[in-house]
Amino acid sequence: MTNLHPRLAALEKQFSASPLTRISDEALSTRRVELWIKRDDLLHPIISGNKWRKLKYALNHALYNQVDTLISMGGAYSNHLHALAFAGQQLAVKTAAFVRGERPEHLNPTLIDLQQWGMQLRFVSRSDYRQLRQYKRYDSLPDLVSGQYWLPEGGATDFASQGVADIMSEIKQQFDVLMVACGTGATLAGLITAAPHDLHLIGVSALKGGAFLNADVKQWLPHAVSHEHWQILLDYHFGGFAKNTPELRQFMRQFTAEHDVPLEPVYTGKLLFAFYDLLKQGYFQPGQRILIVHTGGLQGARE
Ligand SMILES: *Cc1c(COP(=O)(O)O)cnc(C)c1O
Repeated sequence: MTNLHPRLAALEKQFSASPLTRISDEALSTRRVELWIKRDDLLHPIISGNKWRKLKYALNHALYNQVDTLISMGGAYSNHLHALAFAGQQLAVKTAAFVRGERPEHLNPTLIDLQQWGMQLRFVSRSDYRQLRQYKRYDSLPDLVSGQYWLPEGGATDFASQGVADIMSEIKQQFDVLMVACGTGATLAGLITAAPHDLHLIGVSALKGGAFLNADVKQWLPHAVSHEHWQILLDYHFGGFAKNTPELRQFMRQFTAEHDVPLEPVYTGKLLFAFYDLLKQGYFQPGQRILIVHTGGLQGARE
């Protein structure tokens, strides 16, 4: 057990449990497959599901190190920056971020929130943004001064796995397959690290050309982890990161109407689409129990 800093423990009081929701429909009963969703989207009204899991112990580390400013990077719709800005405001720690691309004339709802919560925004070119990806450790950003703490893209720190592992420890039932959406792959890596050996894990890449994720995920796995039953599906990106199609949107509308589980088109919509596509193809065996981790992200889908 990690001791939580008192300010982090106070922030954690805002969080709810993340329940398991059983999904039933005709496609599932025809195939005799059980589907459950781990509802990390319900953890907190603002701080998005897996972004909290990934940030929690990094924030703890930062607080114990008397950090006064958290600095990170993300796109203009970033769930990570959104979670970080709000957490920073609640923890009375300053936040700053490099945002990819030019400053838009009209700020979108995500950027407006970031500003309102006091995050200092610096818009950087796409090539400068790519450069920033090389800095991984909390102290690795050049020109950091004392009291400043760096968080890489998506909050994919060395502390991320520990928070993601909490997802696994909350699950008391047995499952055959776990599915989760991948951006950086850090969440999948944390789940693999904490998973029982007989659980098969499937990541669904939200981006086009996600083959690099295989190497990235491997690199995050501690040497002691020998879990080999995992794979990443690369063909459910619907045109690329943050791209979608009428087919995907139609699927999401129908799923949400039928099951009352909200989805967003960047990650979780593609994930559920992939699940039902595999189901249709007969990928799962009768009697199998599938667990899908709903990583949240609904703020990014606001108009
Ligand atoms: C960031 C995010 C992901 C991707 O997580 P990674 O750890 O970067 O793979 C998945 N789902 C949602 C909703 C996210 O916001």
